[in-house]
Amino acid sequence: MIWNETFECMSRDEMRKLQSIRLKRVVEHVYHNTPFYRKKMQEMGITPDDIQSIDDIVKLPFTVKKDLRDNYPFGLMAVPMSEIVRLHASSGTTGKPIVVGYTRKDLSVWAEAVARCLTAYGLTRNDSVQVSYGYGLFTGGLGAHAGVENIGGTVIPMSSGNTQKQIQLMHDFGAKALACTPSYALHIAETIQESGIPIEEFKLRVGVFGAEPWTENMRKELQEKLHIKAYDIYGLTEICGPGVGGECECQNGTHLWEDNFFPEIIDPVTLKPVEPGQQGELVFTTLTKEGMPMIRYRTRDLTHLIYDKCDCGRTAVRMGRILGRSDDMLIIRGVNVFPSTVESILLELPEFEPQYMILVDRVNNTDTFQIQVEVRPEYYSDEMNKMIALKKKITNRMQSVIGLQPDIKIVEPRSIERSIGKAKHVIDKREFK
Ligand code: ADP
Ligand code: ZN
Repeated sequence: MIWNETFECMSRDEMRKLQSIRLKRVVEHVYHNTPFYRKKMQEMGITPDDIQSIDDIVKLPFTVKKDLRDNYPFGLMAVPMSEIVRLHASSGTTGKPIVVGYTRKDLSVWAEAVARCLTAYGLTRNDSVQVSYGYGLFTGGLGAHAGVENIGGTVIPMSSGNTQKQIQLMHDFGAKALACTPSYALHIAETIQESGIPIEEFKLRVGVFGAEPWTENMRKELQEKLHIKAYDIYGLTEICGPGVGGECECQNGTHLWEDNFFPEIIDPVTLKPVEPGQQGELVFTTLTKEGMPMIRYRTRDLTHLIYDKCDCGRTAVRMGRILGRSDDMLIIRGVNVFPSTVESILLELPEFEPQYMILVDRVNNTDTFQIQVEVRPEYYSDEMNKMIALKKKITNRMQSVIGLQPDIKIVEPRSIERSIGKAKHVIDKREFK
C-alpha cells in the first residue's frame, strides 16, 4: 500500500520540476525572513534570482549544527513566533540544545511523512501502534504519534521506560506494531523473555525502529526475538523528526520523501557533491517547511543514495544504511572504528549478547581500546579455560574486521546498562585530557 502515490511514485522528471519550484520558493522565503540566511547568501554574492532550478542548489551555503546553537533559541525562525505552534529540541552531547519550531502546516507535513512510512510497513487504520519513543522535547514520541493518528490507526502513547508495564500493555492491548529505538526494542525483547510470557501471545507483527544506527544483523535478531518484521524509520530534529524517510516492503534502502526533504551527498572534506551512488555525508534542504527551513543542512550521517525505481513501485530516492555519524567514528591508534561494526560482529557470534560498551583512553601517549561484552547466560561458565577460549575467539574476530586488537573484557550477564532510548556505546576519556 502507498499512502501518497502522487509524490511517492512521481517520475524523476516531474520530481525535479516540483523540487525546482519549491526550492525557489523556500530560498525567497528565508532570504526575506531569516537574516542569518540572507547574510550568508550576501556573503557569497548570490540572491534568490540565482536559484532557478534544483540544480542551482549547489550555489547555496551549507548550514551546520553550530549555526543552530549560535542562533539559540529562535534566531533561525522564518515566521513570527505567533505562527509557531510547537517547539522541539535535541539535547546533543555538548553545549546548548538546538531548538526547532513548527507552524501548523509544518506539523501536518511531518505527520503525512510518517503516515507514508507506516503505510509502507503495511500498517492501516485497523492497527494499533505502541509508541515507545520518548515523548517530550525529543521528536520521536510525538512524531510517531501524529503519524499513527494520521493513518487513522490506534496509538498507544507509552513513551519510553517502565519496561514491565510496556510489555504488559503490549500484551493486553494486542499492539500490532512497536515504535522505538532498536536498542530499546532489544531490551523489551529481553524483558519479554524473562517474563515467561510466550511471544506467541503477543499480536506484534511490525517494528518501527530508528533514531540511532542499527545493522542488518540487529534486524535479524529483533525479528527472531519479537516475531516481527522490523522496518527502518529515519529522521532528525533539524529537518522535522522521524519520518524524513522509511523502508518499504522490499527493505532495500530507506525511501526519502524528497518532495519535502531534498537530499544530497557531499564529500565531507571537499564539500563537493560526490558521484551518484557514492558514499558521503547526507545533506538536506527542506522544500516545504515554513517555520524553520533548513538550507543544505549537513547531517554528519554517512550513507549513499540510490535513484533507481524500487520494486515496490515508488520512485522516491532510497538511502543505504547509515554507517553512523561522522562524529560517532572513533579514531583509535589511527584506525577508524564505527561502533556499529562492533554490534554487527557480536550478533554473528552466538555466545555473545548484542550489548557492548567501548572504552577508549590515552595512557603513556598510546590509545587504549577496551570493549566490554556480555556472554549469553547459557555460555557463561565458571571454568576459566572456557572463558579464555571465548575471549580469544571474539578478540580474533574483532581484530580481523576492525584491524585493531581490542582488549576484550567479559562482564557479568546483564551488567551493561540497557537503553530505553538512544543507546550510548562509547566512553572516550581522551576527550577530557
Ligand atoms: P540528536 O542529534 O540529539 O541525537 P536527533 O533525534 O535529531 O537528535 O537525532 C537524529 C540522528 O539520529 C540522525 O542524524 C542520525 O544520526 C540518527 N538516526 C535517526 N534515525 C536513524 C536511522 N534510522 N538509522 C540510523 N541513524 C538514525
Ligand atoms: Zn520501495
